[in-house]
Amino acid sequence: MEPIIRTKDVEIVYNLGKKNEFKAISDFSIEIFPGEFVSLFGPSGCGKSTIFYTILGVLKPSTGEMLVGGENPYAFSPAEMVNYQAKTIGIIYQAFFLIPSLSVIDNVALPQTFLGTPYPKRRKRAQELLERFGVGTKSDTYPALLSGGQSQRVSVARAMVNNPDILLADEPTGNLDSRSSDQVMNYLKDLSERDKKTVIMITHNAAQLHYCHRVFYMKDGSLLRVVPNPDKKQIAKFDKQKVLVTEIEILSKIYPYSQPEELKVKSIINYLTQDLDFLQLDRLEKATVKMLFRKISRETFFEMLKTPLPKGGIGLSEERAVMMSEKVEKMLKQSEDISRYRRRMNLGVFFNREEKIINDILFYVMEEAKIDLNREKKMRLKQLVRDRVSGLIRKEEFEEALKKPLSQKGVGMKVPDVVRIVFYFEKLLTQGIDTTNKS
Ligand code: ADP
Repeated sequence: MEPIIRTKDVEIVYNLGKKNEFKAISDFSIEIFPGEFVSLFGPSGCGKSTIFYTILGVLKPSTGEMLVGGENPYAFSPAEMVNYQAKTIGIIYQAFFLIPSLSVIDNVALPQTFLGTPYPKRRKRAQELLERFGVGTKSDTYPALLSGGQSQRVSVARAMVNNPDILLADEPTGNLDSRSSDQVMNYLKDLSERDKKTVIMITHNAAQLHYCHRVFYMKDGSLLRVVPNPDKKQIAKFDKQKVLVTEIEILSKIYPYSQPEELKVKSIINYLTQDLDFLQLDRLEKATVKMLFRKISRETFFEMLKTPLPKGGIGLSEERAVMMSEKVEKMLKQSEDISRYRRRMNLGVFFNREEKIINDILFYVMEEAKIDLNREKKMRLKQLVRDRVSGLIRKEEFEEALKKPLSQKGVGMKVPDVVRIVFYFEKLLTQGIDTTNKS
């Protein structure tokens, strides 16, 4: 299948040759396939809108190539460009941009005027679309009288009135409450699934990424990586690379010849102790292997920990042995939820358990790090936990988002709290990851 949009080595420079020249996009190569629902995801200023303008035909790449439906829009005559912008692309904006002096139905019908469609036909088509998007009774009212959610649904109708193949959605739910957001997102999903429209969405709301087939992560004008959604049947072909990067990858650099299972043991050992001598560490490692693979019970593990060194044990104090065996037991148990989540994610069978598993994991890390957060912060942390377990973000990105203030869409946590959460959470991920099939 041919991509509907293809960019190759695109570079976009604003104010080229002027004093204030600025390279907004570099080395941008992507392929989007017909019927895909994808997202451009990244922080403000990373170049998402710039890519939209380029697809829309109003901002020519400075270098590189962009083809839409196999054609280069920047080679079109002015008449062809009008046709392209009216018939190939529909667009919706965060701020709706409905014309206040026109009735709802005339707003929707307007883009057909440029194609010379007669008035009764225009109205009929507009009314059908308003009905499809649940605002059929609003035709004769004016935009000022609509709620945010209704306005955006009218915008979707307007964008689709000429039946374009591609819908660009620029932060479509940025101004909406959660109920209206869900409605609009479901209509976009429906356009992608039922009408096989290609939907390209700009967002920085990670909670909406599950609607997409693939997410294009952007940063500083570049494409960082492309992550397919494991819960959706993919349209594009891609490498099955979804590897969750954990401490195992870091340890494997220090111990290149160790098997992943051995590295898991090292990770736990490192968690438990920094102050034991070599003999103790060696014995601890052996005992932990048995514990990790459930060859011994927690009680036996505890016995081995507190048995004196001359008697073949590890020689820890009773108090420390209790603490260690409890910690390991708890960590192994909790990490089973990570395994469960990853397994279900990879099989695409969350049923209704997703929320519960994530809530449990969230509880574990908050309890271990001994932190309490208000509702808003907790919701954001939860989303980040979900993104990290799903492999959508790296440890560094997780950490950065926890520290960032609320105003910048972060969680606004204090550094020592962040350190504790990240430390424990990464340990859980390391234990929970299935190293046998690279989940
Ligand atoms: P996003 O949509 O991800 O927030 P934009 O595509 O709007 O990012 O902007 C990408 C970068 O290009 C930003 O650094 C922005 O300041 C810069 N930029 C955007 N428009 C212009 C312009 N007309 N002239 C110069 N720089 C611009």
